[in-house]
Amino acid sequence: MATVKEQSFEQLEMKREVYHLIINGKRVNSENGETFTTYNPATGEAIATVAKASKEDAEKAVLAARNAFDFGKWRHFPVNKRSRVLNKIASIMRARFNELVELEILDSGKSLSAAQGQVMQAIEDFEFYAGAIVGHRGVVNNVPGAFHNYTEKEPVGVCAQIIPWNYPLMMAAWKVAPAIAVGCSVVVKPATLTPLTAILLGEICIEAGVPEGVVNIIPGAGSEVGNYLVEHEKVDKVAFTGSTPIGKNIMERASKTLKRVTLELGGKSPNIVFNDADVDAAVDGSLFGIFYNTGQSCEARSRLYVHEDIYDEFIEKFTLKTKKLVLGNPLNKETHVGAIISRDQLEVIDGYVKSAIEDGATIVTGGKEAKLDGLENGHWYEPTIITNVNHDMKAVREEIFGPVVVVMKFSDEKEVIKLANDSEFGLGSAIWTKDHGRATRVANQIQAGIVMVNCPFSAFPGTPFGGYKQSGFGRELCIETLDLYTETKSIISYYGSRPLNPFGV
Ligand code: NAP
Ligand code: MG
Repeated sequence: MATVKEQSFEQLEMKREVYHLIINGKRVNSENGETFTTYNPATGEAIATVAKASKEDAEKAVLAARNAFDFGKWRHFPVNKRSRVLNKIASIMRARFNELVELEILDSGKSLSAAQGQVMQAIEDFEFYAGAIVGHRGVVNNVPGAFHNYTEKEPVGVCAQIIPWNYPLMMAAWKVAPAIAVGCSVVVKPATLTPLTAILLGEICIEAGVPEGVVNIIPGAGSEVGNYLVEHEKVDKVAFTGSTPIGKNIMERASKTLKRVTLELGGKSPNIVFNDADVDAAVDGSLFGIFYNTGQSCEARSRLYVHEDIYDEFIEKFTLKTKKLVLGNPLNKETHVGAIISRDQLEVIDGYVKSAIEDGATIVTGGKEAKLDGLENGHWYEPTIITNVNHDMKAVREEIFGPVVVVMKFSDEKEVIKLANDSEFGLGSAIWTKDHGRATRVANQIQAGIVMVNCPFSAFPGTPFGGYKQSGFGRELCIETLDLYTETKSIISYYGSRPLNPFGV
């Protein structure tokens, strides 16, 4: 592996052959010199060599973060100064927008438009928290007598932040921005499949003036580095985005040191189209709801319920448009649906489709791996619509995490609310209706953290994002996230003129 030369972060090209760990404000090799290769899922080609963190590196990163938190100046900066640094991070990202987009595409196989939207949102997250942090403060309480009580918000400490592969940069931004805004130090573990843009984010933070040790980035295996961070007694909080089984495992391990935990987990989000909906708008929104980001989206609307009165019309239009979706080179702006992240994931998706067929379902379109000319070594799956399904089937109950939607027919509102809530998950949901009363009624009864009404979009800086039930807990992307990275301290002071003598002795 190339040795790290003393180089200022600004001089570096974003696209390069070797990427390093970021520990204590420096680019470093891993202690044992190990590396791994990251691949382009659209071509199967190796993109870069990445330093692979082990427990030793995780230990170094935690100590650097601890030191920065306990003895460093970041948390004591005036809030305006931290805010300025967050804005600087955003402005560097803006200046290097195209490079970040290209690298995100190469590492994850997502389409150009998806990558553009996500990189833009990562930038806006930093801008959002740069503003939000200025207004984040404790409260003054009314207590009786000559007492004065106020609360302060103090940063929770060292945060381990574990990132999934489906939104590599955006998920890193969702976590790093609020944490450093309040003065925490972070150790970020990107997903092994997509480490590059999180490493770049770390470099950009340092370039923008975040002091050494505050942001550390250590790509490495979840089972080794992730576990180590989650159990480390010097880590105060773990924020995890990923699958529900690993989220449960993390919560259990984190309990040993009673860490604060935020979990953003899987989903199987319902998408309900009533008979009074604008059918064309519902078709377009449902198409985006499931096939955006190649269906590899936690809030993908993967259970579609269509009212029986409009079912045939909807399915006909929905199928026609699904067949029009362009799979292909993710760098082309015509491409709607990018690559599947890995061969393993493709096999998981195909396994679910096969299980649905065995259970008696009907494949309306898609249902198999796609072969693309010139991209034979990439991982591609045809956008897939499955009908004739019911709630006993695995493909209806479990998260597929690919471009596959199951469609069911319903006849009344009560019935469909019951079906929508018949899931262990509760992340996203969507309702298509022109009846405002119905929209409000149904939205109130859906057990999910997000309800989209006649709308395909779910994530905006400032809008709380997170799940009910086994989709996790804690909200990201919003003001209340700041509370999840802080402790509230109550300060009670007495200002009376007579000394207090509660025992009266
Ligand atoms: P995953 O397999 O759970 O992995 C997520 C992260 O956890 C990766 O960085 C992984 O590292 C790490 N990890 C694995 N085992 C670990 C362990 N024992 N201890 C600590 N960390 C560990 O999930 P994924 O397949 O990357 O992502 C897809 C999942 O994320 C889906 O279920 C999706 O719904 C969910 N997701 C949820 C949201 C949300 O906001 N609710 C957003 C996006 C994605 P390695 O990759 O190196 O193994
Ligand atoms: Mg990759």
